[in-house]
Amino acid sequence: MDQTGPPDQKSPIVIVGAGIFGLSTALHLCKRGYSDVTVLDKQPYDETLYSYIKGADAASADINKIVRSAYGSQTEYQHLSTEAIAEWHTWNTELKAGSLVPPGMSTKDAVFVPNGNISLSTSTELPAWELACIDGMEKAGNKDTQLATTIPRHKEIAAQKGLQSFMDPFQRERRGKHNTGVLDTTGGMAIADKACRFALHKARNLGAKFIFGEETGCMKELCYQNSKVIGVKTRDGKTHSAEMTVLACGGWTPVLLPELDGLCEATAGSVILFKIPRQSPLWDRLGADQFPTWMWDMRNGAEGGLYGFPRDENGWFKVGYRGTKYTNPLRQGDGSERSTPVTRWSAAEQDGNISTGDKLTSFPQQAHQVLTGFLNEYLPELSEERIDISLTRVCWYTDTFDNHYVVDRVPNKQGLMVATGGSGHAFKYLPNIGNWIVDIMEGIYMDRPAVKAWRWRSVGGEKPTNILMDGIGGPRALQNICLVEKASLQSKEKAKL
Ligand SMILES: Cc1cc2nc3c(=O)[nH]c(=O)nc-3n(C[C@H](O)[C@H](O)[C@H](O)COP(=O)(O)OP(=O)(O)OC[C@H]3O[C@@H](n4cnc5c(N)ncnc54)[C@H](O)[C@@H]3O)c2cc1C
Repeated sequence: MDQTGPPDQKSPIVIVGAGIFGLSTALHLCKRGYSDVTVLDKQPYDETLYSYIKGADAASADINKIVRSAYGSQTEYQHLSTEAIAEWHTWNTELKAGSLVPPGMSTKDAVFVPNGNISLSTSTELPAWELACIDGMEKAGNKDTQLATTIPRHKEIAAQKGLQSFMDPFQRERRGKHNTGVLDTTGGMAIADKACRFALHKARNLGAKFIFGEETGCMKELCYQNSKVIGVKTRDGKTHSAEMTVLACGGWTPVLLPELDGLCEATAGSVILFKIPRQSPLWDRLGADQFPTWMWDMRNGAEGGLYGFPRDENGWFKVGYRGTKYTNPLRQGDGSERSTPVTRWSAAEQDGNISTGDKLTSFPQQAHQVLTGFLNEYLPELSEERIDISLTRVCWYTDTFDNHYVVDRVPNKQGLMVATGGSGHAFKYLPNIGNWIVDIMEGIYMDRPAVKAWRWRSVGGEKPTNILMDGIGGPRALQNICLVEKASLQSKEKAKL
């Protein structure tokens, strides 16, 4: 195989990381006839089942994730979403048919819920991004799939379809308050943990091997023959030879591959969870048959960037904040500072000179303020019903400077690819992104706009969307911000790391 040629279908391929990038790559490699595909992950996913509550702290290990088609003027992602949503429906059908049910799941489970996604705004007029979403979808032949709360004809369509509660999920109009937003009726949510389990089961069924575990599945280093990467060594000392190695380690990737400096960085989002009691009137009101997934003021910097979901089958009601992207810069063995994921499940450990962090159970105070301020205004029933925050989570994204993914061969390292840089919006592509990654591995259809956007790159003349690598002194570093120890809808408590 040369630097750009496809690997032989019989040669070994090792994927490091079983988040959505790794899972989808494995699935599509097997579908395309590759016969020796191994996926390594340090997480014991057969036990934790992609559940954060059971100790899985990858971005993909979650209760639910937003699925949406609308992407403003970024039609390359809109097209990718249309392809993904068709596949999400197929996955539901396959699951229901019962021929491929992962252990512990049943034919009653779904991996996608088409409850729509509404993008809300504090302004009284539709922001330019929302208008671009309507326009982009109409131009692609999806007229009247995007319903604006401010356009009477759209409200009528919503009423005819019985979508009134989805158009005003926080009952703002009933309270005499303005309600500005666009409901993407093609969207909804992925049931994230179950979707990952389904993808894993599908890939296994097609012959992919999975090696999980802190020792057996954790990549310690890449193995080289001159400048060619010929596989990886895991912590148990075993070498896994590969003709092609794919690093898909989410927020851990930039630390494992320092060449990503300036292109990718791990940043944290802040998530709170409520447990809605079954006897509460909110149980029905926040159910997916009445309540959409939602986003609020996504382009309003630190004061906005909220999103959320209906309660799930167990009553978990999740609300997230992305307005400030926190970092955890730690000095590395080579002297550089790189942001490193740290969660309540992190082991305090030393790997050579590299401290991989400590546990983090507290929560950014500013995120707490924005979240509680929003909920007290938009969903006061939570306080009225005395339903308080049950759990907080700091969840690690892999941001690129321009919010596009990175799927490419690593320059000057033959036999090595990366599939990462999800930048907060890749989960929805679990069913199909691997097909694109395998195309890139094979060097085919390389002129597509998305594929070009995902190339290895460095910051050019344009202003970056995300400022990366502020370092230990940076204003978003967890070391430099106030944290609350016990998050509550009423809490004023704060603490410093
Ligand atoms: C809070 C939050 C909310 C989000 N919401 C949405 C949303 O609503 N919609 C959407 O589309 N996207 C969303 N995203 C983005 C989406 O979740 C991510 O883009 C996607 O899950 C990233 O997948 P990944 O495979 O890159 O990384 P991960 O899911 O983090 O997986 C990386 C894997 O690599 C493993 N690993 C790391 N180091 C090693 C090693 N040395 N050896 C072996 N294994 C290793 C980890 O254990 C992990 O399993 C959200 C992300 C976050 C953090």
